[in-house]
Amino acid sequence: MHPTSTLSPALIDSFGRAITYVRLSVTDRCDLRCIYCMAEDMTFLPRAQVLSIEELAMLGKTLCELGVTKLRITGGEPLIRGGIVELMQQLGQIPQLQELCLTTNGTHLAQHAQALKDAGVDRINISLDTLKPLRFKQLTRFGDINQVFAGIKAAQAAGFQHIKLNCVALKHYNADEAPELVRFALGEGLDISFIEEMPLGKINGHGRAAEFVSSAELREQIGKHIALEPISTDTGGPSRYWRAAGFESLIGFISPHSENFCSSCNRVRVTATGKLILCLGQENSADLRSAMRNNPEPEAALRETLLNAIVHKPEKHDFDLADEPQILRFMSMTGG
Ligand code: SAM
Ligand code: SF4
Repeated sequence: MHPTSTLSPALIDSFGRAITYVRLSVTDRCDLRCIYCMAEDMTFLPRAQVLSIEELAMLGKTLCELGVTKLRITGGEPLIRGGIVELMQQLGQIPQLQELCLTTNGTHLAQHAQALKDAGVDRINISLDTLKPLRFKQLTRFGDINQVFAGIKAAQAAGFQHIKLNCVALKHYNADEAPELVRFALGEGLDISFIEEMPLGKINGHGRAAEFVSSAELREQIGKHIALEPISTDTGGPSRYWRAAGFESLIGFISPHSENFCSSCNRVRVTATGKLILCLGQENSADLRSAMRNNPEPEAALRETLLNAIVHKPEKHDFDLADEPQILRFMSMTGG
């Protein structure tokens, strides 16, 4: 953990919410094709459109100078981005940053866990929707679950605390496994969060409404096997937490549909192309890449663009599963 920042936040939106948490996507590419996240046949961005490692480092530093204290590096799959460890090393040295976090699918974590820990990464979230190898292959279209298990082990061995599993629950694919996944997390001393699927991008053959399962349904199902107690822990993200008696693990639920969390939103996202996305469920954005590339003083231009944009952060998202997706960006483009 880094020293506590004394800087007061400069990024305050028109509803008085201070933006202290940024999720930064470092690539739109991925080595998996999770059925709820990507189409099977994806066209990825040309390299020149993606922010360079130097631009990402400048962006991280500038955001923290404006009061951001938590950065989460995501994608696509961040661990397949060339230079990712060097980026983490640079971000890890930003004095104002209190938490440097990573979200990964875990397939390349075994190789990188120790270097990430040494670079100053504080927390890792690992996506894991099932414990069953065949189901994993089906959900990711071709992944090998053993790589993820090896990644979890490597992160534990490197000394990461509070490793969290992220599980998107789908009615006909993995919702029945929720109690098993919780049992696995408890046994390994991991936290786990279940996520309601969000309608981001259109994916042929995948019906989001048909797959919807609410956090309340999952809790009820888990509760038949493991008694859960709600707790007031806040880790600065959208999860609400429960705990199983006798265990330290946090069991979280991210419920964009059934338990709207927008009023306490403290975060924005930046896509791999440097687009500032002010709300996951709305289109409002600002072009940070142009600010950095088309100005003689890129840091000053970046600051100004960020300060001007933040007042346009929308009040809330408005997801509607019954309708066609209104947000045409895939989660992998936005940075989940
Ligand atoms: N590739 C990394 C991973 O899978 O952890 C990082 C990027 S991924 C887009 C980040 C998170 O978003 C994952 O936990 C994934 O399960 C989640 N996600 C992707 N598409 C989603 C959707 N449509 N609704 C809800 N969560 C989604
Ligand atoms: Fe890749 Fe992560 Fe999307 Fe799965 S959820 S396809 S691992 S970016």
